[in-house]
Amino acid sequence: MHFSRYHISDSIKKSLEEHGFIKPTDIQFKAIPSILKGEDVLAVAQTGTGKTAAFAIPAMERLLSSGRRAEPSQVRCLVMVPTRELASQIESVFKKFGAHTGLKIVSTYGGVDQNPQTNGLNKGVDVLISTPGRMFDLRNQGFLDLSVVEILVLDEADQMLAPGFIRDIRDAIKHIPGRRQTLFFSATINEEIKDLAYSLVRNAIRIQISPKDRVSKNVNHQVAFIEMDDKRFFLERLIKEQAEERILVFVRTKVRAERVQAAMARVGIEAGIIHGGRDQAERMEVLDKFRNASAAVLIATDVSARGIDIPGVRYVVNYDLPDEAENYVHRVGRTGRGMEKGFAISFCATEEKPQLEEIEEFLGKPVTHLSINRDDYQMSLALSEKPKADWKDLIEQAKNELGIGLAQAGKVKQKSKTKKSQKK
Ligand code: ADP
Ligand code: MG
Repeated sequence: MHFSRYHISDSIKKSLEEHGFIKPTDIQFKAIPSILKGEDVLAVAQTGTGKTAAFAIPAMERLLSSGRRAEPSQVRCLVMVPTRELASQIESVFKKFGAHTGLKIVSTYGGVDQNPQTNGLNKGVDVLISTPGRMFDLRNQGFLDLSVVEILVLDEADQMLAPGFIRDIRDAIKHIPGRRQTLFFSATINEEIKDLAYSLVRNAIRIQISPKDRVSKNVNHQVAFIEMDDKRFFLERLIKEQAEERILVFVRTKVRAERVQAAMARVGIEAGIIHGGRDQAERMEVLDKFRNASAAVLIATDVSARGIDIPGVRYVVNYDLPDEAENYVHRVGRTGRGMEKGFAISFCATEEKPQLEEIEEFLGKPVTHLSINRDDYQMSLALSEKPKADWKDLIEQAKNELGIGLAQAGKVKQKSKTKKSQKK
C-alpha cells in the first residue's frame, strides 16, 4: 500500500512525495487508518520506525477535514513531549508534511525567550508541540487556551506518564475537552503505564504494536567489558578509527559528560556535549552542528536524547550503562533509524554488571558479548603500539554480519592506509 492510495488530502500527499515517503512503515500502516477514524490509539513500536509521521499525518488530515478554526490563543491539536529538542524536531516534521496544508504549526518550550512563542499563539494555532513546563507558563499568563483541543498526542508516552510528568498531564487534561482524540506513542511501555493510559481515555484504545524484540533489527548492539578507568582509551581508539562517522556517546551524568569531553579534547578529539545543564541555545546549536557535520562526536545524557532523530548516526556508544534498563533501548535506538543500519557498543565495567543483567532481563535475551582478548585490551591502553586486532576489525566483522555495504568497508580501509602513511 502506497501513501498515494490513502484517503488523505492531496496537500499532504504532495509533501510526502516531495520528501520521498512512498510506503508507510508498519506502525504507520497500522496506526493511520485508526487515527483517521477518530479512535484513541496507544502505539508501541520500536525506535526509528516512523512514529512521528504515524501521528502527524492522520492528525493533520483530521484537522483539515473537521474544518474548524482556532480562535486567538486556541489550539486544536496539542502534542506534548518531554524535551525541548524533541518539541523542535516534531515541529519540523509537522511542518515538513503540512507545508501545503495551510495549517499553523508552532512549538513552545522553555529556556528561550517566550515573546516569539506568544506571538505565534496570538492568532490561534492548529498544532502546538510543547513541553509541559512552558505550556503551563503560557496558559497561566493567558496566552494559551486549551478549551477546544480536538487531538491530544503524548509522544514518548511512557515518560510523559511517569512520575516526573504525570501531574502536568493530568492538569492539562483538566483543561482539555473530554470529547477529544488521545494518541499515545512510545517505543517502550510497561503494564502500569498502559493501565494509566487506559484510565485517561474514554474510548477503548485500539492499537498496540508490541515488537517481540525491543531493539530494532537495524541496530547491531554488543557489549564489551572494559574497566571504568580504561574506558576513555577505548573511546579514543574507536573515534579515531571511525573518524568519518557520526558517533553518539552516552554517559550517566552531566559531570561525566564534561569529563569525557575534556579527556577527548586532551587527545585531540573535538566532541560536542548536550545535557540538561547547558542553556537551550547552546544545546540546539550543538545538536545542529552534530546533525550537519559529515562526521562528528556528540556526548549526551539520557534526558537530552530521547526521541532525537538524527539521520546518519552510525555508532552509539554507551560509555556508561544506563541506570534504567529501558533507556538502553532508547539510547541504542538513536542509530539504525528509518531504513538505516547502525552499530551500538556498550562499555561495561565490573561494577556495572548488575545493570547489564537488568538490561538483559528487560530485553528478554542476552546482549552479544564482544570479546577482547587480554593482549588487545592492553594494546588499546597503549595506543602508540600497532594493535593486532582492534575495534576496526571487530566493527568490520559486525558490519559484515549486518550486511553494511562493502563500499563503506572499503572507505574505512583506505582511510586506515592514509593514516599509516601519515605516520611514516
Ligand atoms: P520514531 O519516533 O519511531 O523513533 P521517527 O518518527 O523519528 O521514529 O522516524 C525515524 C526516521 O524514519 C526519520 O528520519 C523519518 O524521516 C524516517 N521515516 C519515517 N517514516 C518513513 C517512511 N514511511 N518512509 C521513509 N522514511 C521514513
Ligand atoms: Mg519518536
